[in-house]
Amino acid sequence: MRPAIRPYLDGPGYVYAERPEAIAAHYGFDRIARLGSNENPFGPSPAALEAATAALANAHRYPDESMSALRAALRERYGEYAYVVGNGMDGIIETLLRVFCEAGDRVVVSTPTFSFYGIAARGQGARVVTVPRGPGFGVDLEAFADACRGAKLAFLCTPNNPTGTATPVEDVRAIAESCGDCLLFLDNAYVDFSDRDYRPVLDACENLAIGRTFSKLYGLAGFRVGYAQVPEWLLPAYARAATPFYGIASVSAAAAVGALGDEAHTERTRAHVVAWRERIARECPFPCAPSEANFLMVDVAPHSSDDAVAALAREGVLVRSCRSFPDLADHYLRVSVGTDWENERFLAAIGSLVSRD
Ligand SMILES: *Cc1c(COP(=O)(O)O)cnc(C)c1O
Repeated sequence: MRPAIRPYLDGPGYVYAERPEAIAAHYGFDRIARLGSNENPFGPSPAALEAATAALANAHRYPDESMSALRAALRERYGEYAYVVGNGMDGIIETLLRVFCEAGDRVVVSTPTFSFYGIAARGQGARVVTVPRGPGFGVDLEAFADACRGAKLAFLCTPNNPTGTATPVEDVRAIAESCGDCLLFLDNAYVDFSDRDYRPVLDACENLAIGRTFSKLYGLAGFRVGYAQVPEWLLPAYARAATPFYGIASVSAAAAVGALGDEAHTERTRAHVVAWRERIARECPFPCAPSEANFLMVDVAPHSSDDAVAALAREGVLVRSCRSFPDLADHYLRVSVGTDWENERFLAAIGSLVSRD
């Protein structure tokens, strides 16, 4: 006899990018342009690696349970807000669902977007209500605010994954003000690549939390560190709901503190991303949605998402199919800004997709 597995796990689950090693072996490439996961192509800052290496000697000790060094470094770098930290922003999302949702509670998600909000909400027994975006992937403010009434948590990603488009700060403020006692979780994983700053809305609204991560700009995806700026009243409940030590390894926390001290590395990354984002949008023969992130969403119609991704794999380029994103038509791919040779190989490969039409 086996215990029954919960039915919410019958779905496909989180969809990962294809493995580059598999593509390299299959098509005989020495190296693959890894443009599927929005990682920092320059890698981690040397300062982050140095700090992580130094922390290894104390790996037999449990981490500081309040993550005080990391939170102090965040306050210094990003302002005097209340911070929570987690095992990636994904860990924070999961903890917040434990803070707010009983089985049957409603969670609102603006789609098409990052799939983990819905997966994690269903894991908590919540009912997920999706609100599709309108023309140009803009958020339908009225429909979103309506859906939020009576819900416990709402997820809005800006700049949005996979579209790359951003929601105006005034719109986020209007949503937060109209969604009553529902907590609005603003996913700012890519805000480091945008000129927008949503933090002023935090000062005005008690029901807003802004999630951020070390996985993208800081190049620490493998260390799994996320953080969020939250209203002060949330801190005690969050601490009780979180996995002990916030689920963060001491070595990872040290890497994050080291990374925060290396602004030259982040500035170089940002400048590279912005320059290439413009060039790819200009030179790509297919239309790209206006991006404020470190990736672009490309409309490859009349090709399907999966066909285009397979054609690019044959040229040694790994990008993300957008087929699995709900409420998105099946003719988009998402391409990260990589190193120079990776981006150049992408432009050549997508060009050959056109000439075969
Ligand atoms: C990458 C990403 C995250 C999460 O990152 P972690 O690696 O868990 O910190 C969260 N939201 C969006 C939209 C992302 O693309």
